[in-house]
Amino acid sequence: MLDVAWPPGTDSPDAKRLIEFGRVLAAASVNYAVIVVGPDERVLFASGTPFDDAGPSVVGKTLRELGRCVPALDGLRPRWGDALLGAAQEFELRASDRCLALQVRMTPLRLTVTPGFAAVAVFHEVTDRALAFAELTRERERIGAAERCIGFGLWELELETGQFELSDGARHLLGSSHADRSLSEVLGRPDQPCEFSITASDGTVRRVISHVARHEATAGHSVMSGTMIDITQLRASERARRQVQNLLRQAFDGSPIGMAMTDPHTGSYLQVNDALCALLGRSRNELLGLPVRDVTHPDDVAGDEAARRAVLDGGQANFVIEKRYIRADGEIVWGAVHVVPAFGDDGQIRGFLSQVMDLTDHKQREQQLVREVQELERLAAIQSAIASGRLVLHAQPIIALDTSEVVQQELLVRLQQEDGTLLPPGEFLPIAEAHGCIRDIDLWVTERAIEIASTGQPVEVNLSAASVGDERLLERIQATLAQTGTDPSLIVFEVTETAVVADLQRAREFASALHELGCRFALDDFGTGYGTLTYLKHFPIDYVKIDVEFVRDLSTNNADHELVGAIVTMAKGLGKRTVAEGVEDAETLAHLRALGVDQAQGYFVGRPAAIERQPTDRA
Ligand code: C2E
Ligand code: CA
Ligand code: CA
Repeated sequence: MLDVAWPPGTDSPDAKRLIEFGRVLAAASVNYAVIVVGPDERVLFASGTPFDDAGPSVVGKTLRELGRCVPALDGLRPRWGDALLGAAQEFELRASDRCLALQVRMTPLRLTVTPGFAAVAVFHEVTDRALAFAELTRERERIGAAERCIGFGLWELELETGQFELSDGARHLLGSSHADRSLSEVLGRPDQPCEFSITASDGTVRRVISHVARHEATAGHSVMSGTMIDITQLRASERARRQVQNLLRQAFDGSPIGMAMTDPHTGSYLQVNDALCALLGRSRNELLGLPVRDVTHPDDVAGDEAARRAVLDGGQANFVIEKRYIRADGEIVWGAVHVVPAFGDDGQIRGFLSQVMDLTDHKQREQQLVREVQELERLAAIQSAIASGRLVLHAQPIIALDTSEVVQQELLVRLQQEDGTLLPPGEFLPIAEAHGCIRDIDLWVTERAIEIASTGQPVEVNLSAASVGDERLLERIQATLAQTGTDPSLIVFEVTETAVVADLQRAREFASALHELGCRFALDDFGTGYGTLTYLKHFPIDYVKIDVEFVRDLSTNNADHELVGAIVTMAKGLGKRTVAEGVEDAETLAHLRALGVDQAQGYFVGRPAAIERQPTDRA
């Protein structure tokens, strides 16, 4: 404050001038307030909103007293001090309740009469502008926070100056290491999308992608703006996904188990591994594009496709089935197939992934086991049938070709099952043979045959290879013949050529023993034994039964005709009689007769039929 006598009186020229100046200012514009303060720090003039009530009463008051009357202006005392020392100032004043914002211009006014300054302050109310600005700042902060949170930013490039303007998010994304200039280097041509690495504010290396969003050119002002997105996580998850896919592919290709990816709609192979190719006996090229049904056993196609449909319809998450495949070489392989759907990004099933485990060995063992169990069951049934007298004999007539009269009956055994049906010998004799009870059957048939022959009826009995040389059988034949007083020459024992050739010495001794008992001996299924024929010379055989194999097509097949002719010639030469088996028509019979065959047997001559009176069971 100047050491001057003040007020010199409101009449003084300086005071008058200052008051007038204040009045002019107050009238000239819409102000919040105009205050003129003299060099003695007392109010010379005051006008405006806060003084509407207390207007004239503040004139003459000190600055301290002014602050008390208008609290919003109380903080201005130091500013007035500076202005009265000659310093012009412009600043914003906020009332403590924040509801009032004032733009203040404080100007020193040089006194003319006395040295020193008075000061005038013009107050403009800027509350609305300040509020809008504060709102804008908050909005910017909110957007900036959101941008930082999602790793997003905006940039604007003034093309003339090359200056970049960055949003808070972009600034945060790029970190402090990237000034505007280095950004233009990083972006290269900003009109192209570009991807680059940066070191972010937190020191981590991040991948960022930039795109141009807008290019605006208005009179002499060209601005390009664009976005910047942090795609570090996207790239990391893409990398992880690629690694997972690679691992899956390695596991798929290298798996020792058959693996396939199939099209869910066409059912054809999209991808197969080596193990599946090996299992199905086909190359990759043969399998790719081929529908699964084409390599599936026809009986398993429906089940396989129904299971896949159930997954497609959403009724089932996955399925496991056991099915048969047909290999390229026609062989059947069993697979345990586990199928899971593979989903695309759109949630739709884009393929079926199948694992196929080779079950063939397991299935074969299982089937073998089932067969063995069935065989054991049948064996038990055979044994029970023998024990309970449920073996049944049928007889088939044999005629002499010169007289067409029945000269013999071949006895053929059947097994009556518990339900009364008859089992043909082919279905139980091999089992009986494998389990050592065939001899019991032969013994049973032989005893019945002797009983039938005891009535004067000639019969032929089939003996299995196991009975050839069986001492017990020979003893029983001898005993039963003696017991019944049967003519032994009425009985012919048939043994297959295969059984004879297997042990010639034993067969010869057996045939000789039967001859000694007075019975006769026939070589059954002649022509199928693959043996040398020289044995025929010294073998005590009475009949050679020509196998059905040579008889079936005799009337049409010249080779068969020649063969049967040769057999007849040879047999006759050795003094043996011939019997043709399996004669099914008159033509064949005529051929046999013309070839000089002695006897014939077959459906045309007579089918095997139950013998009228079954001998009583003595077993
Ligand atoms: P096998 O000794 O060659 O008997 C002839 C077989 O041919 C019989 O079958 C008979 O029914 C059948 N057959 C007869 N005429 C014809 C024909 O015109 N066409 C055709 N296609 N077949 C005809 P079955 O009765 O099923 O006997 C099969 C085999 O079982 C017999 O062959 C024989 O090796 C064996 N067998 C039958 N009964 C006994 C027996 O009591 N003991 C032994 N150990 N084996 C027997
Ligand atoms: Ca026979
Ligand atoms: Ca035969």
